[in-house]
Parts: sequence; C-alpha cells; structure tokens
Amino acid sequence: MKLSTTQRANSLEARDVAHILHPYTNAVVHEAEGPLVLAGGDGIHVIDRDGNRYIEGLSGLFCASLGFSESRLVEAAHRQMQTLPFYHSFGGRSHETAIELSERLIALAPVPMSKVFFANSGSEANDTAIKLVWYYHNAIGKPQKKKIISRQRAYHGVTVASASLTGLPYTHKAFDLPLPGILHTDCPSFYHHGLPGETVEAFATRCAESLEALILREGPDTVGAFFAEPLMASGGCIVPPPTYYAKIQAVLRKYDILLIADEVICGFGRLGTMFGTEAFGLEPDMMAMAKQLSAAYQPISALMVNEKIYAAVRDQSGAIGTFGHGFTYGGHPVATAVALETLKIYEERDIVGHVRDIAPGFQSALRALADHPLVGDVRGMGLIGALEVTSDKATKTPFDPSLGVAAHVGKRALAHGVITRAMGDMVHLCPPLIITAAQVSDLVARIGAALDDTLTWVEQGRPK
Ligand code: PMP
Repeated sequence: MKLSTTQRANSLEARDVAHILHPYTNAVVHEAEGPLVLAGGDGIHVIDRDGNRYIEGLSGLFCASLGFSESRLVEAAHRQMQTLPFYHSFGGRSHETAIELSERLIALAPVPMSKVFFANSGSEANDTAIKLVWYYHNAIGKPQKKKIISRQRAYHGVTVASASLTGLPYTHKAFDLPLPGILHTDCPSFYHHGLPGETVEAFATRCAESLEALILREGPDTVGAFFAEPLMASGGCIVPPPTYYAKIQAVLRKYDILLIADEVICGFGRLGTMFGTEAFGLEPDMMAMAKQLSAAYQPISALMVNEKIYAAVRDQSGAIGTFGHGFTYGGHPVATAVALETLKIYEERDIVGHVRDIAPGFQSALRALADHPLVGDVRGMGLIGALEVTSDKATKTPFDPSLGVAAHVGKRALAHGVITRAMGDMVHLCPPLIITAAQVSDLVARIGAALDDTLTWVEQGRPK
C-alpha cells in the first residue's frame, strides 16, 4: 500500500517512534526501521496490521503458552471485572481468586512450600526473594549472611536488585550495576566453557568447585543465597550438565546457603515437567514464577516460600510489627482469576503431557539444523530451544557482533512468517505449548529457510 507523506507521518509506526521508549531495543535502529505493529492473534499466530500472519515462535516473550485466542481466559477476566475489579491484599484484606490460586500453587509445588506472595512481574518476584533473603538472615540473627550469588549469563529481571542478579553486560554497565554484594559465578554452558578434552561430568565438578572457591573467598558466613534458573533460557538456552545441580546443592548445603529457583520461564510445563525444579532435582527454599502462570493474559507473578522463610516473617511480627513489603496490584483479582483459569486449562488438557509428546519431535527437528554451515550449536529441552550461529564450527569462533548474523536470521524468519528472538549469536525458539506436531515441522522448516537465506547473504558479502 502506497502511503501519502501525511499518512506516513501520522502512521502508527511514526507515532510509535515519536513517543515510545522501547525496552531492549536499539534506539537508532528503531528510529530507522520502526516497530512491527501487531493487531491480532489466532492460536499460535499473531497478525500484523497489514494482515500478515506469523507463527509466534517465542510465545511473545516465552510466556503466551496457550496462544493468542483462548476465550476462556477472556471470559475469566470479564467475569472477575464484573464482580470485583480490584482489591488489594494489604492489612489482611483478601478475595476468593487469590485464595484459590495460592492453594493450587502450593498443591502443585514440587517441594514443600508454605506461602505464596503475589506480585506483577518476574523482576518483582525476584526482588521480593532478595529482600526475603536479607529479612530471613536478620531474623535468625545472622545479619552478615547477606551476599547473593547468581551466574554469568543469568537473566532474573531488570529492577535494581533483579538486574544485579542478571549476568548480562548490557543490564549492568550503563546503569551502575550490579549492587554490591551480588556476585556471579560460572555459567554452566559446556559448549562455551568446557575445556578441550574435558568431560561434561568434569565440567560440572569444576563449576561446583568454582562456586565453593567463591564462597570461601567471600567468607561462608557472608553468603546467604544462590539464585538459579533451572534451564537458563534468555541467557542462551543453557541446559546444565546432568549432575551439575546435585554438585551445586551439595556446596550450598555445606555452607547453609538458601536456594531460590527462578521458574519464570521453566514453570508450568515448558520443560515437560510442571516446574524446572522437578526436571533438575532442585530443592529450593523459594520459587519465583510468572509468565505462563497466566499464559501472559494478565501481568502476575508469585513467589512461593517454604516454612523456614515464612516462620521468620511470623516470628518477627512481634519485634517489627508489620511485614513491610507489598505491591498495590499484587494478587490483583483479575490477574489471579485469569491465572486460576490458566491452571485449570493446563490440568484439563494435560498440557505437561502434551509437551512431553511434542518435545521429542521439536528437539530432533531443531538438532537436524546443527548440520547447517552457520550453526555451531543447538540446545534445548522440552519446548524451548536455541541455535547458535558461528563463523567456524571447529573453533566455535563467533561472528563479529557488528555483522548481526543472528539478527539477520531473525529478520529472514520474519519474512518466512515466524517471529523469533535473536540475542547475541543466538536465535531462540519457545513456541506456545499448544503447538501441534505439524506446526512444529512447519516452524522449524521456516527457520531452516531463514538460515539458508542468511548463508547466501553472508556468502554474498551481506548486501543491505
Ligand atoms: N526471570 C526470568 C528467568 C526471566 O526470563 C524473566 C523475563 N524474561 C524475568 C525473571 C523477569 O521477568 P519480568 O520481565 O516479568 O520482570
């Protein structure tokens, strides 16, 4: 469609560029290229305002597990809006959907959990966990045990404290982060950090030894908690070695260090288990969850805490009085109603069983792309995966970042009707959990076509 100059100036694209500061977007590229404006959704597809349909290969941001047209979630929100559109949980106020949701979450927990704290985003849930690590250690008379260890390449959010947990340079440098007392240990990626000739098992041992060395350097009495996303999704779809968590947890137990599992992406079926905690045999003291908790139809997150943590809050109520933490919209009735309906749908449709059925086909189709000349590694588990491009498979040499090779794969995928996310050298895939086997084949074939296009583009000297 040919637009007049006035039409173009007034277009949604131009208004977007004029007014929105976009998260995780290069401002200069955005001013030049403008936004992709989406207008609708249908199953695993989203539709732009010109009517083009795309397979949402990343479930939005690893979250729209039930796709983009689940009417039961719309009805649940509508019903709740009509009965009690808002209430909060401060000062002991409550409402039915929050109560029911908390019961369901505690029942689903793979390890004994005592209470649920509701918030609105993964970042807020993780910030709450950090504050509870500090609160807990104050309460038990160990006020010096406050340092927190996360991992390089981890993603735990963007608020001041959760961005400090995140282990990616662009979330730190320009923002004067991380906060003091938040430390990063090794990332358990064998592809990136395994030594020549080293076995996966030896690599797992080395990661645990490195964690222990960090704890000893800092002083075990000063280290309070370790944060782990079971499979490190945004950081590069890193699946830790099979014995990694057993070794890490042995170190944590030795020095009496709390474990927090960040289930924001892994939670609710993504790996073929209800939580990543089960897939990797974790025994966390707290679990943060968001995204698929409401299939992304409403912003909501939750932090489950075990009895040890809750007991500290209860025991302090005499000395301190009120528990001084909470968000106005935490446990919002509409969000909790939608989350509750989401969990009912997961159960009725056995979504975890569906992921187990579909995942082997998804993983083997992705792994077939490992033979492609541009692909250095293919990783994944359940219905999440990533391809890593390389300029040299044997030496695993990355492309010069300024070439934007993975970003080009993303652009070509879009041209082939798939939305993915390219980050660094990685192209991520994380389709809605409702995807069918036929749709998986179609999705991966389109990614293969995008890789072929990119190879031609690289070989031709990357014409604009
Ligand atoms: N933890 C993990 C593992 C995540 O992937 C994310 C978001 N991608 C967050 C926390 C932060 O969640 P939010 O963007 O809702 O703050």
